[in-house]
Amino acid sequence: MIPTATLPPRMVEEIVSRAERPDFDRWAEQVTRCGHCSHPVRLRGRVEHRSATGGRITYSTDAEPDRVLMIRCGNRRAAVCPSCSYEYAGDMWQLLYAGGAGGRKGVPDTIRSHPLVFATLTAPSFGPVHTTRADRSGPARCRPTRGTPRLCQHGRPTWCTAIHNEDDPRLGQPICPDCYDYPAHIAFNWHAPELWRRFTIALRRALAQQSGLTAAEFTRRCRVSFVKVAEFQRRGVVHFHALIRLDGPGEDYQPPQLSIDSTELAETIRQVAAHVRLTVAIPEGPDLVLRFGEQLDTQTVNGGPAGELTPEHAARYIAKYATKSAEDFGLGERRITPEALPLLHVPHHVDQLVRVAWQLGDHTAYQGLRRWVHMIGFRGHFASKSRRYSTTLGAIRGERRAYRQRQPAEQVRELLDENTDTTLVVSHWEFAGVGYLTPGDTALALSAAARARERRQAARDAA
Ligand SMILES: [Zn+2]
Ligand SMILES: [Zn+2]
Ligand SMILES: [Zn+2]
Repeated sequence: MIPTATLPPRMVEEIVSRAERPDFDRWAEQVTRCGHCSHPVRLRGRVEHRSATGGRITYSTDAEPDRVLMIRCGNRRAAVCPSCSYEYAGDMWQLLYAGGAGGRKGVPDTIRSHPLVFATLTAPSFGPVHTTRADRSGPARCRPTRGTPRLCQHGRPTWCTAIHNEDDPRLGQPICPDCYDYPAHIAFNWHAPELWRRFTIALRRALAQQSGLTAAEFTRRCRVSFVKVAEFQRRGVVHFHALIRLDGPGEDYQPPQLSIDSTELAETIRQVAAHVRLTVAIPEGPDLVLRFGEQLDTQTVNGGPAGELTPEHAARYIAKYATKSAEDFGLGERRITPEALPLLHVPHHVDQLVRVAWQLGDHTAYQGLRRWVHMIGFRGHFASKSRRYSTTLGAIRGERRAYRQRQPAEQVRELLDENTDTTLVVSHWEFAGVGYLTPGDTALALSAAARARERRQAARDAA
């Protein structure tokens, strides 16, 4: 139970009065059923079964605690709702795994024979930052001096001999903030979706060329399917993780009519990613040529000589990033202005990024950027896929919803002992609010969530 001694008296009253109500068990059941969501949506309404002989209300929230039904908020982000984001990651995993291993969700298991590569496309350097490194003997110094130690033009060291811990607040911060190219950093985040689009176009072109095909011939034989997630690195720049697969042209996941294997696909991805460029304007400066960073990584999945990465692993990796966002930078989840910065107590680096993004947003080439400064200028989707990569998240959610709804519907039927001549089900719902009714309810729900997590963990440990 909750240690009530540490709670404000008002909240204790709310908890006690909730627990004393005769419908407490039903309330607790609702909390469990919406997965201990942090901000459930409260709905009011009824379900009516209509048949030729008349209509009958088979469910109404009038009989529920507070006359509402709570359903999940469905937020993807772990910082907003741990429960819903856990569920989202699970759905995402299902989608990714189906696209890699097949044999489920309408994807045939022959998909395992298609060339499939897990690729990480990073951002280039905008100036040295504090980082964790490792060499053969273990954790290594951040930026050791090479040759004669040299100060930058601002009189600061260009080296750092520290071995940073994972929780060191200096990680991701520039060695010299004045040397750091803030406008280029923001320009990269802002234009990253376009750079990715160029990459996919160039990849198709390169694969066609490699097979000695024209673009039209290539399209008749092969489709490049992918799913990608954007991840924020500590320095506040996005990079992409993607699963890229070659399919046949139809809708039914046929193999591509090309003789390219996973290893060759990986090599082509590396070459294309290294060469793709995007020239963008920088106010009061020369144009900037954007590109991906040198640290390109590709791994074949499902085969190829070095195919150690399984579809399970690749799916887990990408699903994990799909629930993250820019929240680690302390900027919150809503639009902000530079005036709000002093209240947020963010590190100097993040403060600078926001200010520079705001300034850039004043120029026509960056119109709309000011709405995305809390995302450090990234306006793309955190997770996206091409149309035929796998099933959709919507389809997975629909399946689960149908599964969940079976339970209450069956209960209702038993209660009414009805014969099933029902022809039409009509639902009327209205929105009653978001979140739990009182802080006391929230505390109860969160403590129940913590107990559920402990039980899950214990079950996992025992397995
Ligand atoms: Zn939720
Ligand atoms: Zn350092
Ligand atoms: Zn400097």
